[in-house]
Amino acid sequence: MIHSLPALPYSPDALAPVLSAETIDFHYGKHFQTYIDNLNRMIEGSPYEDMEIEEIVMKAGGAVFNNAAQAWNHNFYFQTLSPSPVEIPAVLEEKLVKAFGSVADFKTEFNKAAATLFGSGWAWLCKDKDENLVIVQTQNADNPMTQGLKPLLTVDVWEHAYYIDYRNRRAAYLEAIWNLIDWEKVAGRL
Ligand code: MN
Repeated sequence: MIHSLPALPYSPDALAPVLSAETIDFHYGKHFQTYIDNLNRMIEGSPYEDMEIEEIVMKAGGAVFNNAAQAWNHNFYFQTLSPSPVEIPAVLEEKLVKAFGSVADFKTEFNKAAATLFGSGWAWLCKDKDENLVIVQTQNADNPMTQGLKPLLTVDVWEHAYYIDYRNRRAAYLEAIWNLIDWEKVAGRL
């Protein structure tokens, strides 16, 4: 199958000023598109040719894994953002309070994981096999599904995610991104 760039659920300028139209143009329109293009080129004539991206992530290694996982991760990230954020649904809030003490403590702990990730990667909120919420860092393209975790939320901390708008200020990006989280979608993944 030929994989294509999934449509955004908002217009490219709708996330400004947290994420500018220029950031979306480069991050979604160029970086994400390149992972999709690379994946399509690499899987042609291979055992991965007829698999959904999630299955490729679970089964592939090397460059095929890197491009499939980056495609999956970017879609998950962009689909979780919204220009009109909603309240955290009670079912999710209860779980965040149980796991981290409060929603504010969760955000602090998540941002600490995202800020201290050395180099390129992703910060995640996941559900483990025992239904507990956990915060996970992954390097480069890595995805927590390969560790048996269910992703609920991710924030991209590759420099290309924030450098146009925030330059080297990763912490400022991490503070601002909370204004764009679609908590209904996060809760829907529980
Ligand atoms: Mn990215």
